[in-house]
Amino acid sequence: MRVAIVGAGVAGLSCGQALLAAGAEVHWFDKSRASAGRTSAKRAFDGHVDLGAQYFTARQPEFRQQVELWQQQGLVARWRANLYRYQQGQLLASPDDQVRYVGVPAMHSPWRHGLDSNNFTLNSRITGLEYQQGWQLHDEQGQSFQGFDALVLAVPPVQAIQLLAHDDELRQQVPDSMLQPCQAIAVKLAEPVRHEATAVFVKGRPLGWVARDDSKPGRQTAFQQWVLHCTPEFSQQQLTSPSHELVALAIAELELLFQQEIKLLDSVHHRWLYAIVDAGQAAPGVLISRRLPLVLAGDWCLGGRVENAWLAGRQAAKAVLHV
Ligand code: FAD
Ligand code: NAD
Repeated sequence: MRVAIVGAGVAGLSCGQALLAAGAEVHWFDKSRASAGRTSAKRAFDGHVDLGAQYFTARQPEFRQQVELWQQQGLVARWRANLYRYQQGQLLASPDDQVRYVGVPAMHSPWRHGLDSNNFTLNSRITGLEYQQGWQLHDEQGQSFQGFDALVLAVPPVQAIQLLAHDDELRQQVPDSMLQPCQAIAVKLAEPVRHEATAVFVKGRPLGWVARDDSKPGRQTAFQQWVLHCTPEFSQQQLTSPSHELVALAIAELELLFQQEIKLLDSVHHRWLYAIVDAGQAAPGVLISRRLPLVLAGDWCLGGRVENAWLAGRQAAKAVLHV
């Protein structure tokens, strides 16, 4: 069986890994330069920085087992963050018992591990699909790819809807406004923040999350590096704001949180258009076409988060093997 997977984020990669293990041939297509989607660490400050997913938790037995395996392989480590929360003008210690993990050396390491680059077509945005005895895919640059028995769309809902012109029934099951944006900023500081916090859940400010990236296992650097995420609401309001304005805001917010002057060495900004699943919307589950060998998967199918993206990929693989 030859399977095409559009979208090489956590869901697409976990789906493909399971299909490969079951003996299928798998080929991934992704519009980005690299795989891992929203967990892909960005090149910055002569290294990598986690601008997307910050950590992950493991609550379901199947994922917990996988995380244990990754830990044994040295691809995942526990992040013992010094947790704080900021609310009503106060920075308060906020420890808990939740176990949090990160990929090492970078967030994307576990799900990319062991895959052959020949199985990927990157920088390829799929814009059209046809089914006649097998699937044919067309990308933005006019390239076509054919001969696939089954297809998995492991992309965010808006992008899935654009590709489902041929399947009204499936298209109508995809929620179109489920993912909210996130403006993400990383800063490299000339002088350290003199506070023990390494992560802050922020309430009532433009930022929702602040974390010291170099406090995560395998990411030690000479200068402190902080990642700041704006809330979905603020990110939506500031969707077209220039990077320098968002960096200035990030610095001002850091100064407010830690009550010290912040001196910047370097910065990077990334606008995630489809970032965080709106927890208020019902998750539809992995969607399976009744007419064609086609399955839809993604974090949004099961309610967001890395763990759910991985589980959705596994469910999609099972569905593909049974169509
Ligand atoms: P994606 O990672 O979005 O993968 C979809 C892939 O499809 C992408 O690589 C994209 O390039 C590709 N694609 C889309 N359209 C096309 C097309 N037409 N043709 C080809 N390729 C296409 N989760 C946590 O558990 N913990 C966190 O701390 C956390 N923090 C987050 C912070 C931010 C800023 C963001 C953005 C997300 C965060 N998340 C977090 C959510 C987590 O990253 C996602 O749940 C998970 O990575 C989603 O994986 P996915 O495979 O479903 O989707
Ligand atoms: P988690 O249990 O650490 O966090 C869940 C949420 O609980 C946090 O966002 C925060 O609001 C709150 N929280 C947790 N511990 C806290 C503490 N010690 N003090 C104060 N508040 C605390 O992890 P998770 O459920 O795996 O979520 C991981 C991350 O992914 C979170 O940052 C969350 O905002 C984000 N998230 C993303 C999606 C999505 O994209 N699809 C969905 C849910 C959560």
